[in-house]
Amino acid sequence: MNHLFSLTPCDRGPIVNIREQDISSFEICLCVTGYRPLVKVGDSTSKGQTMAEDPAGKLPSLHSSISGKVIDVKKDFIRIQEDGERTAQPLDFSTLNTGSMLESLRHGGIDTRPFKPENTLIINAVPAESGLDGHRFLIEEFNDIMLEGLAFLKKALVPKACALALPAGMNWTLQGCSSHEIAPVYPNGLNAMVVKAVTGQEMPPEVSVINAAELYRIGRTLHGRQPVSDIMVKVGSTLFQAPVGTPVGLLVKMAGFSVADNDRVILGGPLSGEAVYSLNHGIGPETQGICVIPSGPEPTIKDAPCVGCGECVIRCPARLMPNMISRHAEFGLFENTLSYNIAACFECGLCTYWCTAQRPVLHYIRLAKKELSQQPILEDLREKA
Ligand code: SF4
Ligand code: SF4
Repeated sequence: MNHLFSLTPCDRGPIVNIREQDISSFEICLCVTGYRPLVKVGDSTSKGQTMAEDPAGKLPSLHSSISGKVIDVKKDFIRIQEDGERTAQPLDFSTLNTGSMLESLRHGGIDTRPFKPENTLIINAVPAESGLDGHRFLIEEFNDIMLEGLAFLKKALVPKACALALPAGMNWTLQGCSSHEIAPVYPNGLNAMVVKAVTGQEMPPEVSVINAAELYRIGRTLHGRQPVSDIMVKVGSTLFQAPVGTPVGLLVKMAGFSVADNDRVILGGPLSGEAVYSLNHGIGPETQGICVIPSGPEPTIKDAPCVGCGECVIRCPARLMPNMISRHAEFGLFENTLSYNIAACFECGLCTYWCTAQRPVLHYIRLAKKELSQQPILEDLREKA
């Protein structure tokens, strides 16, 4: 099998803890696109302090993972240089009703949008892409922390049932969850595919799904009453424990990569991840991995017209017409993509991988989704996903 498609978790190697490395003038860079910054240049910050809020009150709050001094604030990022050892006031999780419990989690940095009361709750422990298996360590070493998160969710949401989806061949369990083995082949680990495999239905509204690393973050946030500041990030074969906001350039260098001009550094996996434009870009709370794609004589993507071969249609696991969606998006006809059910695309990237003409099909789809994101219809469909 092409290694890009294998989702079998790798054997666990040693973990490189960024906080234990000798790094002079350590800085973090928090991506705050769409957020309202709450700090200005020169402010002192504490570890766990809220740095930016979503003006609409839906996205999780963003926190500093270090104590330090704010050295830059722009529309898209906040940079903080490490300085001292201050910690923010503990979070309060003493509330008792569903709404306020979820709101406490959101203030603690957890994305609560997938959660609906009385749904079936699926914990997805299948790697999203090849090599993005850092959660293996969390499941095997911190099962108790995950159970603490699960207990809170059960109290807040009263789910109809709880299920753990895991790659076939692993012996992971989570008490109180039925186990469902999934064939470890891409794209089976993406949430939409896992939901279909567990329930037999496509995008049923009565199902909520989160990945296992997110359940750990919930448990850890409750346990420490602080936002989770460190995450597990896989870079090549190296697993890092790194503060949120650690620059990708630092991680790829420590993993032994040197990035040349025109190489691509991708947040996430090579099939569905997104390239960063700067090595100063910081990892986000949900980053699971980084990969480096060297430039070659042949570009992986071309500004080429669609030749109508239909290969992307055959390969699309959502049974969409990526050719038509991308053609309309290419020419700015974003609303037309709605009639091709663009909201059902779960961004696996297989259309781009298999495209005969090497078109950036997924990029066009993401562009159209971004342009349409203010329209209620896409928002409604996404919330149901
Ligand atoms: S990324 Fe492409 S192949 Fe994957 S679901 Fe979307 S349209 Fe289909
Ligand atoms: S695979 Fe590429 S060239 Fe072929 S129909 Fe799809 S978008 Fe067009």
